[in-house]
Amino acid sequence: MVFPIKTDPTRPDTIAAISTPPGPGGIAIIRISGPKALDIARLLFKSSKSVFKSHELRRGFVIDPGSGCVLDEALVSVMLKPNSYTREDVVEINSHAGPVVADEILNLTLKNGARLAGPGEFTKRAFLNGRIDLTQAEAVIDIINSKSAGALKAAAAHLKGGLKRRVKDVKKSLADLLAGIEFSIDFSEYDDERVFSEEIIPIFENYVIKNLSDILGKYASFRMIREGIKIAIVGKPNVGKSSLMNAILGYQRAVVTPEPGTTRDYISEKILVPGGYATIIDTAGVRDSSYLVERAGIEKTLKRIGESDIVLFVVDVCGGMTEDDYAVYERLKTKKTILVVNKIDRKDGQIIIDRGRIDKKVKTKYISALRGDGLADLKAAFEKLAGGFGGSNFNGEVAPNMRQKIAIEKALGHAKSALNLIRDGNSPELAAIKINDSLNQLNRVLGVTINEDVLDSIFKTFCVGK
Ligand code: GDP
Repeated sequence: MVFPIKTDPTRPDTIAAISTPPGPGGIAIIRISGPKALDIARLLFKSSKSVFKSHELRRGFVIDPGSGCVLDEALVSVMLKPNSYTREDVVEINSHAGPVVADEILNLTLKNGARLAGPGEFTKRAFLNGRIDLTQAEAVIDIINSKSAGALKAAAAHLKGGLKRRVKDVKKSLADLLAGIEFSIDFSEYDDERVFSEEIIPIFENYVIKNLSDILGKYASFRMIREGIKIAIVGKPNVGKSSLMNAILGYQRAVVTPEPGTTRDYISEKILVPGGYATIIDTAGVRDSSYLVERAGIEKTLKRIGESDIVLFVVDVCGGMTEDDYAVYERLKTKKTILVVNKIDRKDGQIIIDRGRIDKKVKTKYISALRGDGLADLKAAFEKLAGGFGGSNFNGEVAPNMRQKIAIEKALGHAKSALNLIRDGNSPELAAIKINDSLNQLNRVLGVTINEDVLDSIFKTFCVGK
């Protein structure tokens, strides 16, 4: 069900949670939000002054009102509504961070009128109370989960309202178009339909289609920022894929044995590359005998190759490339590939590769995963390829996430249909329906209207206390 979001939910209850990570540390923050937040603070916290001022830090003691026992010395801040994170009265108790003390203080808030907050419920209230839109709420979790400086910049741009502004601008153009169309329907002043379409087509093209296409283009170019890229290590069993994975990571992650086919399926790890991070995947898992013969085995490897952005295609300096290798290489052709000739420490090594069968753009790197020879050169080569995915050029622009992208794609589709209807001289009413569909999709991006399940799935990824 799609429902309009209430900007002023009536009679909310009071929620509380520990906003800092569990375990011992310098400070823990117990956060309370809602109509009873101040009453709870007055009950549990004693300081020299009895009146709380908004946005002022006060030192005092947390007391169990039942027993009168002092639990901790603390600093308390009060943020009165509407100037708070949730737009409700918010109290934050900065206690010491022992495994027991923060829990005890939280329990006192729960005994005295609060209930435990759900994941992301503080941010959800900020959204429901209209302080932030959905793109900004999503940016909060993106900031917390950022795995690279680029991802952080992208999330911060959204938190500042970058995507919200761009989407709102397009919404305004669509609303103007709708008003123009409705005016023309009501008053039929545009006797000459050609004049009417000449006026509105440029607005469609220059403001709606261009801007939405531009936002979507950012998704593709900066996918690496959000999702990271995938680097697959591919090759026959025993050529040294797992050894290469370990050498790149700098520790023993993959099991290395002289027995072919040790890595049954695949293992993956994240590594930092310029502008973001990459998931590096050891795709081994097929025995020599089943390298190409056993469909299930090769399908697994081909699936990993299909999902990857960069392929490190490993061959043994002694064996060179076999017909099976060339067959797999044929399947890699669309990927950015580096041919990695491993085991160059072996004196008996003698590489047999028919370069004529390999694309000229594919670089060959000679390494010894065992001794580390050539590794720096190989890393520089795949980091350069990774740079081509946009991460290093990223400058805090607006780059939508998957949910936003899907809705914007639909909005663009409807806008294009409306434009075509007008170009083809169809009734303006039909175009108006499509413009409304486009507006609805943009409202979903911002969370003005949203499916309740979608909302739940967004906030459940948050931690409790945020
Ligand atoms: P995978 O099956 O392709 O993952 O290969 P492994 O990484 O498990 O390595 C297979 C065998 O080759 C092991 O005995 C490794 O020690 C050996 N090996 C891997 N890299 C090198 C290398 O650079 N030089 C030499 N001499 N042996 C290597």
